[in-house]
Amino acid sequence: MLSCPRCQAAIEPTTIHCPRCHLALKAHGHPGMPLYRSEGETALCATCVYDADDTCNFPQRPHAETCTLYRSINAVEDLALPPPSFGNQLSFWLRNHRGLVALGGLLLLSLALVLVR
Ligand code: SF4
Ligand SMILES: [Zn+2]
Repeated sequence: MLSCPRCQAAIEPTTIHCPRCHLALKAHGHPGMPLYRSEGETALCATCVYDADDTCNFPQRPHAETCTLYRSINAVEDLALPPPSFGNQLSFWLRNHRGLVALGGLLLLSLALVLVR
C-alpha cells in the first residue's frame, strides 16, 4: 500500500487525488499518468535525465517541483545496459557512415573491373 506524500494517508497506486488532503497524485486526472513530485527543497530537475542531457524544454525547468516526464538519473544507472558487442558497434558505424561505405564499394568495384580486363 502506498501513502500520500503530503499527509501519509493510505492510497492505491491508481488514486488520482488523496482522499484526505486532496493532493493531486496523477497528472490530468488520469490514473495511468504519473505525476512525480520533488521531496524536500531539491527540484526534480536536479536528478532528472532530461536535465542532465539538456533535452528538456519544459518551462518549469530547472525548478520543477512536479513533472509528468521526470526520469531519475539513478534509475537509468541501475538499468544500465552492458556495453555493445563488436558486431553491434560495427553495424552502428556502418549505418552512420553510409556515404563512406558506398564510396568504398565503388572503389572496390572499379578496382575489380580494372583487374578483370
Ligand atoms: S522532464 Fe521535468 S523534471 Fe526533468 S528536467 Fe524537464 S522539467 Fe525537470
Ligand atoms: Zn494526502
